[in-house]
Amino acid sequence: MISRTKEDAYVLSIDEGTTSARAAIYNAQGERVAMHAVPFASRYPRPGWVEQDAPAIWRAQMSAVAAVVAVVGDRRIAACGITNQRETVVLWDRRTGEPIAPAIVWQCRRTAEMCAKLARSRDAEIVESKTGLVIDAYFSASKIRWLLENVPDARARAGAGEILFGNIDTWLVWKLTGGREHVTDPTNASRTMLMDLETGAWDDDLLRIFDIPRAMLPRIVPSSGRIGVIDPDCPGAGVPISGIAGDQQAALAGQACFRAGLSKNTYGTGCFALTHAGGRRPHSSHRLIGTRAASIGSDPQYAVEGSVFIAGAVVQWLRDELGLIRNAHDSEMLAESVPDTNGVHVVPAFVGLGAPHWDSAARGVVSGLTRATGKAHIVRAALESIAFQSRDLIDAMEADSGQSIHELRVDGGAAVNNFLMQFQADILGKVVVRPADVETTALGAAYLAGIAEGVWSGTEEVQSFWRVERRFEPNISAHRREEMVRQWKRAVARARSDLQ
Ligand code: ADP
Repeated sequence: MISRTKEDAYVLSIDEGTTSARAAIYNAQGERVAMHAVPFASRYPRPGWVEQDAPAIWRAQMSAVAAVVAVVGDRRIAACGITNQRETVVLWDRRTGEPIAPAIVWQCRRTAEMCAKLARSRDAEIVESKTGLVIDAYFSASKIRWLLENVPDARARAGAGEILFGNIDTWLVWKLTGGREHVTDPTNASRTMLMDLETGAWDDDLLRIFDIPRAMLPRIVPSSGRIGVIDPDCPGAGVPISGIAGDQQAALAGQACFRAGLSKNTYGTGCFALTHAGGRRPHSSHRLIGTRAASIGSDPQYAVEGSVFIAGAVVQWLRDELGLIRNAHDSEMLAESVPDTNGVHVVPAFVGLGAPHWDSAARGVVSGLTRATGKAHIVRAALESIAFQSRDLIDAMEADSGQSIHELRVDGGAAVNNFLMQFQADILGKVVVRPADVETTALGAAYLAGIAEGVWSGTEEVQSFWRVERRFEPNISAHRREEMVRQWKRAVARARSDLQ
């Protein structure tokens, strides 16, 4: 049996992302003592389609877990938390554990037409008001339906309870518990488009609209609480699995945003901004998404979420397609080599515009070019576009809630860029705060599990672990800020599909 005192307990975090399976171990002081990542592949069988192999994800995840468990030994691990890429759909055979088809990844657009049709139908209002989501191929329901319609016998077998559905959290817990637990948590369930955001239960109207049998759905359990223990055959055998949250909600917890009004923005390939909304369901009139935040205890907690599709990816574009920089890090120095963009704007609507525009047919624009435009101006404008798009989200969040957001906590790969973070503070007119530990997703999952198992007493204790690495204070006049935002909006208008 596992014996330990609170002080020498460790918490294991399983952090399953879109491109790699990662695992981390934290000590009782909330410090990361081990981390390991194992990449896995995505497949793109047709334009816009994205698939993954669920057994390959499982194997990569187990290698990552084995590597970190070896650092401290599993007898000292008191809890395991799981966080995952959201919305991705796996259907598998309950008896054999074999997936019936490749997993459909959240980025996959194969159900775009199905969703466009639904959005024009009378059911659209029911779906959006019950789920808090905007109808889009991104969420799980249309992907499940596609598999049921396209894999032979799938619908009949799902109805008979022979086929199980799970997002990646569910798949991993099912594997980790030797097939005993088929569960998910409200943060993941709220992204399926099958859960009533308020009741936290699967909804019969939504199941009817998407024609999905209830028998295949997992049980919804709290985000923080004991689910089962890791099977003897797996690394970490015997460790209680005691927390689950989707990646962005885990990051919100990892940034110690446990109260209404606290916000974080993750600067990865895209940007994900979430503001904690407390215990009342948010209603957006600016096309943001209402979602569940991870709650400690039984009271539901909510968040408002907005995403930008192309954020750090615009830096990859500068590097790989335009060849303007050699690596992402160079973008900072180049941007700082000029005092401004000399009137240039980059609107990276490469795959349309996300919230609050939701214009999937918009396309990118570089505007304001003159004979004096140099590559530093374009690089600077591209970095600024990440901050401008994030400001559009934060503006929409403030307009929805009627409350102003005081500071923005940041993380993700592009948050290391000091120019970008300073410009973000300038253009928001708010303080931007970068914490010492930017692996907030893994950390948040550890918090949920560690609190459930008594390693930590609650959110107050884990909040005390949160350390600022750097604060960026706004440093331009309000007049200049508003003028820059006005110019940005003109550039965005040029990218919109109704003008093309
Ligand atoms: P994801 O989790 O979406 O894969 P990460 O959080 O790992 O993303 O961040 C990677 C992204 O951050 C890439 O798109 C990359 O271009 C961008 N990035 C990394 N370093 C920098 C930097 N110094 N400046 C700007 N962008 C950066």
